[in-house]
Amino acid sequence: MIVINHINTLRQLLNRHREMGHKIGFVPTMGNLHNGHLSLVEVAKQHSDIVVVSIFVNPTQFGPNEDFDAYPRTLERDCEMLEQQGSDIVFAPEVSEVYPKWPNLTSVRVEELGKNHCGSSRAGHFDGVATVVSKLFNMVRPDLAVFGQKDFQQLAIIRRMVLDLNFDIDIIGAPIIRENNGLAMSSRNGYLSEQEKEQASYIQQTLQWAKHQIEQGTTDYRQLEQQASDRLNDNGFKTDYFNIARQDDLEPAQANDAKLVILVAAFMGKVRLIDNLEINK
Ligand code: AMP
Repeated sequence: MIVINHINTLRQLLNRHREMGHKIGFVPTMGNLHNGHLSLVEVAKQHSDIVVVSIFVNPTQFGPNEDFDAYPRTLERDCEMLEQQGSDIVFAPEVSEVYPKWPNLTSVRVEELGKNHCGSSRAGHFDGVATVVSKLFNMVRPDLAVFGQKDFQQLAIIRRMVLDLNFDIDIIGAPIIRENNGLAMSSRNGYLSEQEKEQASYIQQTLQWAKHQIEQGTTDYRQLEQQASDRLNDNGFKTDYFNIARQDDLEPAQANDAKLVILVAAFMGKVRLIDNLEINK
């Protein structure tokens, strides 16, 4: 496995692979890897000859009061995990390499899809994500890229960006990997104590409870959203949002919609956790 810090080195190496006809798979991450990330690498390996994993904590997707400085950076450990997993190339650039002139004057915004849910509570977050992902796509020029369904809204935004900007890249969504208690794996779970991790499984339980209500015939989704938020608030969380949306455009679901996704973000102390659950009626 090769660890590369510079775009030029990456481009030269990948050009050689392209000349040999190799299919390039790409997994963008912010590092501090867990089994969720490794599952994306596994999916990428199944669909490509060469897997590039980027590790880059992207400053433009963090708000001024968010955890950019504190975000866990564990490059050495990450590389060990990726080597064991059979990744070929780790691309770990500095901020100055990715943003050669600061601040960047050009950014990518995917309207509408980015306005609700995490978009309304994290102003500018998805612009930062879409911008850095399109920059990374230009650096790696992969044939395919794998993203986790854990970040459902992010995946929808990337899919739409690829369509709108004519990127010649297949986007593959990979399932959410969870702890045994149902808590979705996340680098931010490392901020939680063992007791909080146990308590945090209540997010998944609440999603399942809401799904059950829908399967039992509940169609007043706004009331159900409120009830679910209250349940979370009564169990140690501060709910940011609990939204029942349509899978395709992420707009609020109506009674006759068949493809739904429940999207939730909730704070446990200062730690913001997200999860989601798809429902096909
Ligand atoms: P991050 O490092 O948090 O930016 O995540 C990098 C990629 O890993 C994104 O595509 C995430 O959706 C994905 N990911 C993070 N956690 C999980 C998980 N528990 N299961 C599946 N994919 C995940």
